[in-house]
Amino acid sequence: MPTTEAKPGNPNITVSTKPLPVCDRKPPQSFSFHRFRKLIHLICVAIFFALPFLNLMRFDIPRQRFYFFGYELWISEFSIIFFSLMFLMFIVAAMAMLYGRVYCGYLCPQMIFSEASITLESKLTRTVNKYVRWNAKRRTLLSRTLFYLIAVMASVVLAFAFISYFVEPRDLIHRLLRFDIKTAGGIAGATTTLLTLLDFLFLRQRFCTTVCPYGYLQGMLGDGDTLIVHYRDEDRECIECKKCVRVCHMGIDIRTSPYQIECIHCGECIDACVDVLSRLGKQGLIHYVWGEQGEKLGTGDKSWYQRIGLRNAKRVVVLLVILFYGAGLFTALSMRRAVLVRIAPDRTTMYRLGKDGTVYNRFRLQVANRGREQAIVQLSIEGLAGATFMNFENAVVVSGGQTLQTEFEIQAAPSAGVAPGVNYFRLISRVGNESDVFEETFITPSTDSR
Ligand code: SF4
Ligand code: SF4
Repeated sequence: MPTTEAKPGNPNITVSTKPLPVCDRKPPQSFSFHRFRKLIHLICVAIFFALPFLNLMRFDIPRQRFYFFGYELWISEFSIIFFSLMFLMFIVAAMAMLYGRVYCGYLCPQMIFSEASITLESKLTRTVNKYVRWNAKRRTLLSRTLFYLIAVMASVVLAFAFISYFVEPRDLIHRLLRFDIKTAGGIAGATTTLLTLLDFLFLRQRFCTTVCPYGYLQGMLGDGDTLIVHYRDEDRECIECKKCVRVCHMGIDIRTSPYQIECIHCGECIDACVDVLSRLGKQGLIHYVWGEQGEKLGTGDKSWYQRIGLRNAKRVVVLLVILFYGAGLFTALSMRRAVLVRIAPDRTTMYRLGKDGTVYNRFRLQVANRGREQAIVQLSIEGLAGATFMNFENAVVVSGGQTLQTEFEIQAAPSAGVAPGVNYFRLISRVGNESDVFEETFITPSTDSR
């Protein structure tokens, strides 16, 4: 049987009639750590911009406020800020202990923007080389110029978003439009933009291995059960294609050791190896595993808490500490009042005696309205019969975000019959449905000289 025939329409060309070999290449793997990471990066970028612009989180330095998911906390609210910081710190420490450097590979803004910068640069170079018909030198010049222009614009936007974590965005935009580089805020903005640009252009992932302390911290927090990226090749199946090395943004070879300080546990080398070896009908040789000797992620017959990383008592203790600080934060937030009233006696003079024998005691009132709505504070006297406020508008109005300090006097005429010496009584402050009680003293001359 002939194995060739003339090509239809061109008898001078013969083509093979043998059936094509069946392609046994495996379909592309359905799950890819690369795609998963990019999705997480996208969500992180959205959160990065949303937090300050929606007032969800900002450490507002000019106003000395900490905006935290609808709460406007004042710097003086130490307990809430303390619990927030401790809670976040232990979350980061627990992540490092359980899941290694996944924060670096999946959530860190420095890593996200460094990778975006590298991807942008290589895409621009490829696009210019593909569509522009100039010589190589001019094409390189064009792609570099485009990259620098986009990097400058991106640096301004990112620096703006970053500083919005400390300064209100509307205030910031006014400074930006005025090209303010004289005030502290303007200088901080210009410096951050410049640093972001230099980071984009030159530093990138070098930051992770030279400046960032998190990688070094990982060495202290991780142990034999921490999730790592590990190369296992007992059957000597590695074909030395080195794709795992080429895809690694950190420029390392995971096959030499799973404990390299540069490794950010991103999983790109896992995808690369699966992609290569699946074409040969084999399993990948690089995996996420629980410690060097532990089982692969998502395998084994462990209980649910071991599958999520709670593998020894140390981890349970860390979880309990997180719960403790989380409960402390929740309690501090639930006990928080939007309007804080403070009343204290002014004892620069014990009392003032009027010509008619009326005794006056002076008090200081401080109202801090930490909410956004106007607050009306009303005071009343309990347990001091016949005593009244003197020249005091007993409905103090305080706008949202304002602090008011004032003084008032309480008077007791001789006819009120207030006893000589120290008289204990209560001042009640009311704001809406909430009230506070202040135990105070009213002092009159110890001998009845009125
Ligand atoms: S070795 Fe693998 S997991 Fe580690 S940084 Fe490189 S690509 Fe990511
Ligand atoms: S990608 Fe896999 S097969 Fe290729 S060199 Fe790396 S470990 Fe070996």
